[in-house]
Amino acid sequence: MLPTYARYPLTLVKGEGSWLWDDAGNRYLDFMSGIAVTNLGHAPARIKEALLQQLDQLWHVSNLFHIPNQADAAKLLTDNSCGDAVFFCNSGAEANEAAIKLARRYQQLVQNNGRYEIITFEQSFHGRTLATLTATGQAKVKEGFAPLPEGFKYIAYNDIAALETAVSDKTAAIMLELVQAEGGIHPVDQTYIQQVADLCQREGILLIVDEIQTGIGRTGKLFAYEHFGIEPDIFTLAKGLGSGFPVGAMVAKEKLREGFGAGSHGSTFGGTPIATAVVKATLETIVGDGLSDRAAAQGEYLMSQLREKLSGASFVKEVRGLGLLVGIECTGPVADVITEAQKRGLLVITAGPNVVRLLPNLLVTNEEIDEAVAILAELLSAR
Ligand SMILES: *Cc1c(COP(=O)(O)O)cnc(C)c1O
Repeated sequence: MLPTYARYPLTLVKGEGSWLWDDAGNRYLDFMSGIAVTNLGHAPARIKEALLQQLDQLWHVSNLFHIPNQADAAKLLTDNSCGDAVFFCNSGAEANEAAIKLARRYQQLVQNNGRYEIITFEQSFHGRTLATLTATGQAKVKEGFAPLPEGFKYIAYNDIAALETAVSDKTAAIMLELVQAEGGIHPVDQTYIQQVADLCQREGILLIVDEIQTGIGRTGKLFAYEHFGIEPDIFTLAKGLGSGFPVGAMVAKEKLREGFGAGSHGSTFGGTPIATAVVKATLETIVGDGLSDRAAAQGEYLMSQLREKLSGASFVKEVRGLGLLVGIECTGPVADVITEAQKRGLLVITAGPNVVRLLPNLLVTNEEIDEAVAILAELLSAR
């Protein structure tokens, strides 16, 4: 294998609910969920059942044919969102790639205005393909990959003057996360995002919201845009969409349907019968069981416990987040907090050098939260 990942010295071999076991039989409380993927915990029974049932019937046929699970999964997405049309793919980067392509094509072939520029934000993260790493507002993911695709511009987040200066008659779309996750758990300001949405409306610019980490109940709503009273023209999903099965989706408003006619975009594996059986079961579970509300309640409890138990820790600067997307910003690097937590049986990750990121599954219990907070309080108070 190519050495693209700096791996922890842990080999995890079994998972159930909030818990993982390594190859030596040690148990870990999982507060990272495969980076916001296993939102229903490990090996959720209902999803497993849907997957096994589909495995008995049909695995793959190509998008040259109608795929009932795909239509059902798309209907669940549009019935439960502001979107009207869905394109299935296999990952987050692919969903954002589709969003960038659709935005340009809609402006150029439907609106006939020649617009191509995509405005994105400093500290954003949108993926690792050439277009999505170009969209990403972090230098480290671009190093050595020149020349990069043209037509991207980066500005400061939560700064409306910067956006007004950046917009031109070439602007096709503005693309952003509503909580910058990889960039350090920075939620968007309510007034700012309303101004962004108004500006998009006024200028005929498409608003693309990257919900790859924030979507599927994670922030206490099914999609994070619901917190802010705005409606994106396009939003993208992956991570939690398949409960651990690899799948992505781009959801768009009705007017964008024309932008992606037959032959304009595609993916061999996008939305296979298996993948979309899992998407269906995941969405039915999250919507049917009210798990977004549960994430909101558990997120409140997690953040209140962290604030209380870390109040005396001088190393801790701030606890912030939305639902179960939570960050603890510290005054210095936290890499060894992560490895120390692992030794005490707790899995967490970073979000930038100084932020500990917590992403428990949406079914996490108060007892599990208490256990994680106790470990973190011990580690962070000792610094
Ligand atoms: C993870 C992530 C991506 C990329 O998703 P992949 O499935 O790794 O390609 C894009 N945007 C955001 C906000 C993410 O968190």
